[in-house]
Amino acid sequence: MPKLFAPNTNSSELVLALLANLSEKPVQVCDIQQLAAIPTTAYFGTYLGANKETQSSFMVYLNRSYPEKIQEAVFFHEVLHLIIKCEGFPQIKVNLNIASALKPNLLESLGKLRVHFASVIDHHIVFPRMLQLIGFDLSEYFDVQVNQKKLRLDRARVPNHVIRNFYAQQDILVGLEYFLYPEPQRNRILEVFKDKNPAAHACSTALREKVAQTTIKKPTDLFHVAEQIKSHTIKYGEKNAIGQLNLMWKALDIQFVGANPAPPSSMINYLS
Ligand SMILES: [Zn+2]
Repeated sequence: MPKLFAPNTNSSELVLALLANLSEKPVQVCDIQQLAAIPTTAYFGTYLGANKETQSSFMVYLNRSYPEKIQEAVFFHEVLHLIIKCEGFPQIKVNLNIASALKPNLLESLGKLRVHFASVIDHHIVFPRMLQLIGFDLSEYFDVQVNQKKLRLDRARVPNHVIRNFYAQQDILVGLEYFLYPEPQRNRILEVFKDKNPAAHACSTALREKVAQTTIKKPTDLFHVAEQIKSHTIKYGEKNAIGQLNLMWKALDIQFVGANPAPPSSMINYLS
């Protein structure tokens, strides 16, 4: 494996060893700009990282514009996504029957929404494990998360009601992640969220209370929570009459694939 960081620390070795217990596939580290150069995945250009499982290897993509310490935390994060996939936690797949009814421009955006939904679901396991297992302070990493999330909340003011509510659905979902951040960053981002979009903040808080009733340890726990989140999101879209955009959420199936699933099909299957 190419040298990742200077120095290549114990935390990276630990997370790689955990993955090696579950799969013999090698891990390949790449620059995230490789994904950004592909039109259908151009949006990854500003992401911190991403991952993908292919037939022969695990790919971890890192945003090289961040300091090495952040990159190392991102590497740990991305490998945890791969680990929980091997452990049989639920995956989000596109339901092609439902997706075929979408207009072409919405179908094009469905891959991005799938990545987004899958990440938020996974993060209920990934963030707590990161905080528990990593061998260094994560303050800088979560500061970067807060800064990135602040930017997305500016979209709360778009004038078109349908688009605004479609963004609100995503903000409510991402809002669930904020409750998983360490306390200083959690308080900071929740304050900004409440200020920029009080209605979405209230929905996210209510959904968090519902989700927090489940102690999420096993794949079945996360499956239950993912179903709750999906049904809440669809109901929000129905209440706010967002029309065909709500069909995009309906086209995202929560699948229980079991441990060490078969390699993904040709469907784009990145996570962030
Ligand atoms: Zn993630």
